[in-house]
Amino acid sequence: MRKPIIAANWKLNKGPSDTEDFIRGFESKLASLPKGVDIVIAPPFVSLVKATELLSQSRVRVSAQNMSEQDNGAYTGEVSAFMLKEVFVQYVILGHSERRSIYGETDAVINAKILKAHEVELKPIFCIGETLQEREGGKLEEVLRTQITDGLKDVSEKQMLDTVIAYEPVWAIGTGVVATPKQAQDTHEFVRSVITDLYGVSVSEKVRIQYGGSVKPDNAAELLGQKDIDGALVGGAALEVASFADLIKNGVVE
Ligand code: PEP
Repeated sequence: MRKPIIAANWKLNKGPSDTEDFIRGFESKLASLPKGVDIVIAPPFVSLVKATELLSQSRVRVSAQNMSEQDNGAYTGEVSAFMLKEVFVQYVILGHSERRSIYGETDAVINAKILKAHEVELKPIFCIGETLQEREGGKLEEVLRTQITDGLKDVSEKQMLDTVIAYEPVWAIGTGVVATPKQAQDTHEFVRSVITDLYGVSVSEKVRIQYGGSVKPDNAAELLGQKDIDGALVGGAALEVASFADLIKNGVVE
């Protein structure tokens, strides 16, 4: 049985004081939430220290939303994997479609970041997903297979077990348009089959694959109830304590 993992991607929202408000509110609800789920929040860089300090005794884990593939040097504006480790961050979202489309991150860059994260034992949440044009053009499987194969180049079996995949159809991110449970399940099954091709079935059965794209409290149960969907990466619905807590409650049946 794979333990579900639900992560909040706050994107460019919540400085340290909003982060503190959210965490205090969320912590007060934590006891009423299902136990058999890993919960992760991903604030912006400037709020990470506040988050890890406030959550040092909590079961809630902290993720960065990005990091550099470089260790140090003349890379203005960048943050390294070592720096994230130093402030007790445990996960890092890599390859989000906004990083790919707005900041031009390629599969090769994302691969370098994934390898760097593993080097310091940060767990990557590796995002993949197709555009609507690619899906409608019959390119879904080709696009995902390339993203997975190139993004995971040289990632060992052991490292793969510490990698979370987030399947996020680009057309469903922040749009309110959600993949149907069947569309999501079919695609997750395909993603798992690619992991089987690369790592064998004993690894692929253990790898957690989150769905992301307009997950809300009222559709979480149906999506997370699918056989190959092991949690969610959540944007909009994770900005408010009540909706993030309800989404976890509805999505995880114990
Ligand atoms: C995301 O940013 O990864 C995401 C899935 O956003 P939303 O839930 O708002 O679609």
